[in-house]
Amino acid sequence: MIKEVKAKSLLRKYKKVDSWFVARYGMNLYRGCLHNCAYCDGRAEGYYVEGEFGKDIEVKINASELLQKELDPKRKRVPLKKGFVMIGGGVGDSYCAVDQKFQLARKALKIVSEFNYPVHILTKSTFVERDIDLLKEIKDKSQAIISFSFSGVDDEICKIFEPGVPSANERLKTISKLKKEGFPVGVFLMPVIPFITDSREQLENSMKSFKEAGVDFVIFGGMTLKQGRQQDHFYEILQKNYPDLIDRYNAIYKGDKWGGASYKYYNTINSLFFSLARKYQIPIRIPAKIFNQVINQNDLVTVILDQMDYILKQEGEKTPYGYGAYSISQLKEPVSAFRNQLQTLKGVGPVTEKIILEILDSGTSPYYERLIYG
Ligand code: SF4
Repeated sequence: MIKEVKAKSLLRKYKKVDSWFVARYGMNLYRGCLHNCAYCDGRAEGYYVEGEFGKDIEVKINASELLQKELDPKRKRVPLKKGFVMIGGGVGDSYCAVDQKFQLARKALKIVSEFNYPVHILTKSTFVERDIDLLKEIKDKSQAIISFSFSGVDDEICKIFEPGVPSANERLKTISKLKKEGFPVGVFLMPVIPFITDSREQLENSMKSFKEAGVDFVIFGGMTLKQGRQQDHFYEILQKNYPDLIDRYNAIYKGDKWGGASYKYYNTINSLFFSLARKYQIPIRIPAKIFNQVINQNDLVTVILDQMDYILKQEGEKTPYGYGAYSISQLKEPVSAFRNQLQTLKGVGPVTEKIILEILDSGTSPYYERLIYG
């Protein structure tokens, strides 16, 4: 059932730039999703999506009016900081079939373009191709990153766990097409499905396909399974298709509040993914060259330091960069105002200082470039 609702507000403003998506703002145009992925955490009670998930959708029918108001600098005492607006993710996919009728994603892009914000789209749908014209306009003025989420590239498995989603092969074709059009395109390989799409063979096939499609980055994550509606639904599908795996799932999902699996399991798949990313030379975070001309200097330094922190941790190293990133993200003034006294900032020692200065002068750092491109 499609229900039209009037939302009170639309944009979510992040307290700190989100280093996974390089976004400052996010939004959900719909609540609920016809893609109906078996593992979707939008089903979890904590998100309060009403009705039968996968069939019932709430459409924020006044989304355009809200976005127009919320982005318009003339209506603000303090204009919003410039930064990427993220469309997608959360409790719905902005390009699921219902958008063919309501076109909320297209209307949102027009407003984002009008106010000159960069955009990052995350979708599982090839239907995003409809808006290539607008996305190009945004890319030429600031930047437009287009990301696709996958649990793997095996179409038979996708049919079971992502019944309403275009096949992995179709998504890969759309990626190649968007790359030819000159867009930065990435993959969120998440969640991988335990013991199904996370094997060495499956992950290798996925990474090979992404490399061939020409992606700029692949961001990886394991599956969470919160007790209640999300887990019950997933287990129903699992029981029907892979009954032998139930015991193995019970061994890694033990009722963690956030639905997390065991650390041991996550560590195993993370290190497997990391070795394959190195083998195929695919960055595991969004490379700075994609956004360093667009975001403000504090956000840029924050994201680069956060990314370095993440990559070094994957290599099993301790790092000070996460602490430095947080400290920079909390500054009210531009970090360049501290050029000559960076080490007075919490978490900034001589090495971090050198990296920050390199970023301020060139938009990146040689050490970061070596880390991100392996
Ligand atoms: S596409 Fe995303 S929001 Fe939609 S059902 Fe799948 S995981 Fe959930």
